[in-house]
Amino acid sequence: MGEFTLINQYFQRQALQGQGHQDIILGIGDDCALLNPPPLHHLAISTDTFVAGVHFFPESSSFDIATRCLGASLSDLAAMGAAPSSYTLCLTLPDADELFLQGFSDGLIAMSQLYNIALIGGDTTKGPLTISLQVMGWVPHHQALQRNNAKAGDRIYVSGSLGDAAGGLKQLHNDRAANNNLTKRYHHPTPRIALGQWLHGNATAAIDVSDGLLQDLGHILQQSNVGATIELNNLPLSAELMRAFSKEQCWLMALSAGEDFELCFTMPAKQQAALMAFANAQQIPVAHIGNIDETLGTRLHHHGKPTPMPTHLGWQHF
Ligand code: ADP
Ligand code: MG
Repeated sequence: MGEFTLINQYFQRQALQGQGHQDIILGIGDDCALLNPPPLHHLAISTDTFVAGVHFFPESSSFDIATRCLGASLSDLAAMGAAPSSYTLCLTLPDADELFLQGFSDGLIAMSQLYNIALIGGDTTKGPLTISLQVMGWVPHHQALQRNNAKAGDRIYVSGSLGDAAGGLKQLHNDRAANNNLTKRYHHPTPRIALGQWLHGNATAAIDVSDGLLQDLGHILQQSNVGATIELNNLPLSAELMRAFSKEQCWLMALSAGEDFELCFTMPAKQQAALMAFANAQQIPVAHIGNIDETLGTRLHHHGKPTPMPTHLGWQHF
């Protein structure tokens, strides 16, 4: 199969092109794609590279590899409060394996349709399996959720539950074929796009939890020049995680393991009722896990009493 047949068959599929995108003038097939920015919006743009054996198991199904990669990328748009528009895909493949390509393309379709994001271009090369995605979204002028405006007195919230992806990953390390609610959370992240957009004008800062809560919240604290206290008992842990691991292991995973792709955000207490009304209506769990204060750094509490910090705080490549 030639390069152009491959692109045509697996990436120029109608179902990947999105629905009703007036912001896309031209997609795959020319030298560039053309976008038409909606009036009074900024372009939010983010890139991620996923390397086989580093970011995903090459033995995983190509459907699961696709949903995880695109889910992780969409999560950056969610954390900025952007509405998904389109993405490009740079794919490096060892060979034109049709079974792999079919599953991969199906996985992209599943995520693209859930979040109405269109594939508008990319590049296809031969080499060690590597996936590079660039996602683009639109955010109303001056509404993007940045990391630098958390204020002492704000509450700290997280969506969903924490530690599930890490629990799933641990199980996959033991058994690549493991398939349960935790491995599902690892393979199929749920980028919190709707919540991110609701947070405009409500949250003071936001980030997605990709490298571990303490590390990611740490970026908000550093950029906002504030500190935080976290109550261990308020960390949202799923029933599945608690069944599979001890409470201490669950806390450690919730605090320091990444890839849940939930949102962590700060907000004045007076907005809590509106937040909970939105979260209930959308069936997005949201937990109040701690508070911002003026003392720099992060402190952990257990039933309101100080408790020591784990030494390993999150994933870093180097
Ligand atoms: P060029 O030579 O201009 O770089 P290519 O021959 O690489 O163009 O690609 C042809 C068209 O197919 C372009 O529109 C490009 O964006 C698109 N394309 C190539 N690879 C992919 C891919 N993996 N996914 C989506 N679109 C792709
Ligand atoms: Mg090219």
